[in-house]
Amino acid sequence: MRDRRTTIFSVLLAATLATTFAPAPALADPAGVTAQAEPNQVKNLTVVQGDGYATLAWTPVEGATDYQIERTPVAADGSATGPAVITGVWRPNRQINNESPTFADAGFNPGTQFQWRVRARFGTTAQPYSEPVSGTTSAPWGDPNVPGENLRTQWETTLAAQYTSDVNEYAYTAALDAASDRVRVTEIGKTVLGRPINMFVLGYPTPPATAEAVAKTSPLLINCNVHGNEPGDREACLIMARKLAFSNDARTIDLLSHTTVLIVPTINGDGRAANTRGNSTGQDLNRDYSLIRQPETAAFVQMLRDYHPVASYDGHEFGNSSAGDLPMLPPRHQNVAQSIFDESQHMIEGHMYTEGAKDGWWPCPYGCNGGGSVGLSEETILRNTAGLKNVVNSLLELRSSGGTTRPDEGNTANNRRRKTYSALWTFNQFLDYHRANLKEITTARADAITFQVSNTGRIVFRGSRPIEAHPAPHPGEAPPPIDAPKDNLILDTAPCAYKLTEEQYHGARTDGPAGRVTTVAERIAAHGWQVVKTSDGYVVPLAQPERGLIPLLLDGLGVEKLVDAERVYPTLTGKHNGKLVVSGFACLKDATVTGPVRVQPGATLVATGTSFTGPVEATGAAGVFLTDSKVVGPVRVTGTTGPVVVVDATVDGPVVVSDNRANAPLVAANTVTGPLECSGNAAAPVNLEVANSVQGPKRDQCASL
Ligand SMILES: [Zn+2]
Repeated sequence: MRDRRTTIFSVLLAATLATTFAPAPALADPAGVTAQAEPNQVKNLTVVQGDGYATLAWTPVEGATDYQIERTPVAADGSATGPAVITGVWRPNRQINNESPTFADAGFNPGTQFQWRVRARFGTTAQPYSEPVSGTTSAPWGDPNVPGENLRTQWETTLAAQYTSDVNEYAYTAALDAASDRVRVTEIGKTVLGRPINMFVLGYPTPPATAEAVAKTSPLLINCNVHGNEPGDREACLIMARKLAFSNDARTIDLLSHTTVLIVPTINGDGRAANTRGNSTGQDLNRDYSLIRQPETAAFVQMLRDYHPVASYDGHEFGNSSAGDLPMLPPRHQNVAQSIFDESQHMIEGHMYTEGAKDGWWPCPYGCNGGGSVGLSEETILRNTAGLKNVVNSLLELRSSGGTTRPDEGNTANNRRRKTYSALWTFNQFLDYHRANLKEITTARADAITFQVSNTGRIVFRGSRPIEAHPAPHPGEAPPPIDAPKDNLILDTAPCAYKLTEEQYHGARTDGPAGRVTTVAERIAAHGWQVVKTSDGYVVPLAQPERGLIPLLLDGLGVEKLVDAERVYPTLTGKHNGKLVVSGFACLKDATVTGPVRVQPGATLVATGTSFTGPVEATGAAGVFLTDSKVVGPVRVTGTTGPVVVVDATVDGPVVVSDNRANAPLVAANTVTGPLECSGNAAAPVNLEVANSVQGPKRDQCASL
């Protein structure tokens, strides 16, 4: 509900500000200067220029059912140079606060001069036009005489007649990289046909040097073009990257001083070059982010694993002429943590709806009039995959064509401009949202990680949280279908882990492009999941941050799974009195152990929701997972040959994580009354940017955790 409260608060605040700061009525309505207003004439029309759009605002006319926006090209002296055209229709469902109507007029060549008028209609009966306002629209950002700033994309130089080609994208990207210290372009992978998949890494005065260092800045991510025939967002990304690279305005410097902006202009370069939805094999990449059968999605998921973006937007276009300008949708899959869903919804309904109403854009839920069964729970869709990876995020669709509310957009270039500049507005708002709400975003992420590692609650294989219509008058009149989970796709009692055979884990998979063989082991590694090698197989415990995604790929009930792995259920759920010696595999779930715990060499301990009285000691174990648990006594994990995951544990005593021999131990969100000592681990422990609360000193490899 936080979104609704914020929305109401914002409206009230706006009303208060209007009362306080609005000019006196005599000044606002200079009746003595201009002609007396006619009955029902729109008054107080204003225009404010944005990046590729102009926001018109006016005082509502009592009884109006809608408004028409008229635009006329004019010369410097104000004389018309072309016909007046109705370019927009404002309807009450366009924005959340009908008391202050606004319309973002777009679809013109930026930098040209126009005059606008607005008139109310009562049904189909037009009322008198307002007095005109005129202005010069904002030219594309960047001084044409300043090197770097003067770079332009193919789309810009051809006035939207051509989309930027792959060749031009790479040249523009390299030129930005060369000309700005704030930009590092990194190749995160290659497409099936060998095209580079680039990512802009932007920071001020320079971006952090490594993925690990970027992760510490709580970066945000924009994925600009997954469907090759939906190019509008990509053009916005390229334009935005230029401004971020060179602008010295206070906002840009402030944004880039506080985080790192990651922009992937084209994950699907082959599809873009061929103007096809899928990649060169015909695979829809936005149905592959969990399975990662394709090199493009595999590269992207590895980037998510390494850079840890905390928030993201995924850009698309939608073939619907009657939707709002900007259909959006949060990760809805029911395995996504509630905190991630809520914060994503707040970003959309709390922020985008509110700011859209100020600037004249019309964000709305994806679903849209006549949208059919879209916006559902497939975990293969990046919106859901990212949510299951604890990323606050939204889908963005650009309405693909004009229609009743954008009647001038039979003109192809104008339609393209409206789409691209509506995406640019959204991405800029996304940056501002991240800057202003970083604490809420990172708190939602931390809550999600601690929820997921606790392995509590049912597993849903397919099924969404509902998206309720925003209260009227609202931009949410057509939310997506309910998409409730079916009974046969729910597992009420989650297993502790999944166990894969050698063949399942290392067997060759040929579900990718012809000639490319990969394994489940490689895909699990790309996702970044922890796996324990046991004497007779490979065990993937659910007590880890991507718990909601793991069963969707490894359980027999998974709708689009990799394997039908064996479910491993807890071995101890009740009370255990006295010493506990773990040999082989032990999974403790909501158990109570009074006495010391000793994990033998080669054994595996997975403990969630468990209370230990006495020390927990593991020496040379195959794997140790201690999450959402309490320990009275020291915890000592040394010499582990496989994964170490100690997250959201409360330890009354010291914690030692040392000399572990596999990948980096995960030590996060713990509360420790004693010291936290980490030394001699083959890879230094990490905390996924979720800090530990440690009363004693944090030493050596854990000093900054
Ligand atoms: Zn799409």
